[in-house]
Amino acid sequence: METSVKEAKQNDEVHDPKILGWAKDVLDRCSSPRMMQQEVIHSVNRNALWRGEECLNLLAPEAPTSPTVKNLLSAEVGTRAAEGHIGSTQRWFAGTQYIDEIEALCVELLKRVFNCNYADHRLVASMIGNMTVYSALTEPGDNIMTMTQPFGGHSSNRYDGPAGVRGLNIYDIPFDPVDLVVDLEKFKEEARKIKPRLVTLGASMTLFPFPIKEMSDIVQEWGGKIYFDGAHQLGLIGGGQFQEPLNEGACIITGSAGKTFSGPQSGVILWNDGELTKPITDTIFPALAATHQVNRVAALAASAAEFLAFGEEYMAQIVANAKALGTALSDRGMTVLGSHKGFTETHQVILDVTKFGGGLSVAQKLAKANIITNKNLIPSDKPENWDYPSGLRIGTTEITRLGMKEQEMDIIADLIVAVLEGSKGTDAARQQVIEMRKSYQKIHYCFD
Ligand SMILES: *Cc1c(COP(=O)(O)O)cnc(C)c1O
Repeated sequence: METSVKEAKQNDEVHDPKILGWAKDVLDRCSSPRMMQQEVIHSVNRNALWRGEECLNLLAPEAPTSPTVKNLLSAEVGTRAAEGHIGSTQRWFAGTQYIDEIEALCVELLKRVFNCNYADHRLVASMIGNMTVYSALTEPGDNIMTMTQPFGGHSSNRYDGPAGVRGLNIYDIPFDPVDLVVDLEKFKEEARKIKPRLVTLGASMTLFPFPIKEMSDIVQEWGGKIYFDGAHQLGLIGGGQFQEPLNEGACIITGSAGKTFSGPQSGVILWNDGELTKPITDTIFPALAATHQVNRVAALAASAAEFLAFGEEYMAQIVANAKALGTALSDRGMTVLGSHKGFTETHQVILDVTKFGGGLSVAQKLAKANIITNKNLIPSDKPENWDYPSGLRIGTTEITRLGMKEQEMDIIADLIVAVLEGSKGTDAARQQVIEMRKSYQKIHYCFD
């Protein structure tokens, strides 16, 4: 009886049973809780050595934070409770005077970086921003249009994410698979039939700007709005290296603070129209955030200050590096998306790695050589190819913050191609990466 309950429980587990089994064995072998704690710390340290010091981290959603930002994440204020809006009468708890200062500095710094009228600092993830927008700006049963995953769309704007949870009818934004931009003619036709209340732009796989102005003009015919999910592009926008969604017709932006923005992993939400303030902030508090991690808010404020000083130069180098890497990989025979348009206008380079066995096996092979990337759906894939897509996504944020420039992109392209074509074994490539990383340990574009 007891074993069958145990088995049923294990079968209901979503996580890989092999790795949970490893953890159970490790804990079973510990003679005390203190040893168990040591095991946690060992895993953290192993990751810090490998991913932090010995890898070329080319994951597009990652960025290293400055030492100051990293330190603030363990600040004393992170143990304090501060739910509510800024100001003593709007807080539940007393004793928040310095917390009010930290949060107000964060809000005002975000407004300066993004040149907008309103910003909120309380999203513990950009996903919470997506949920905020759908809760505040739509009603269940409304029609919206968003991007499908093979064209770079994110699950947060599809049926399995916040948009689906809100009970919205989700239609696809037509996309041109060659030019990798919205197909405006088709959009016009379909949007006029669907009359979406909200059109969500922005993507996880993102190479070129969106026709926000043109799309905004169309949806205004029936009072529709454009929402820009800038999770990936937030830093590029703040650094003036991408389009300016709020000035081109988007009414609201959400973004990840830990992607190109290179701050603490969490979310940011920005808007200009004062009429949106109440619906947006009523949703953030008390619906989606209460204890919103003031240590994280302090770290976010500090990274916004770094952005004021270094954002433009840092983000310009990220894009220059991505263009150089796209060119270098293409010159070496790789299939790079967007080759007829200069490969990219963002931090990303997208490869079609079908001839090397697809994205999953390529990403795993490169990881053995300490080159960290991710498999990705590309336009030639179907959404159900999720586990075995044809594409590989590469991002240049971290290597740029470590001080690499265009010439290093040639070395990285040589390494990637050598591993994929088998002219260099993964062990030899890994040794070369570890050696290369020795000269790139310091975080640039910060005051430290
Ligand atoms: C990463 C991502 C999100 C979620 O952001 P988190 O900060 O990880 O919560 C939302 N939308 C898009 C388009 C993304 O790429």
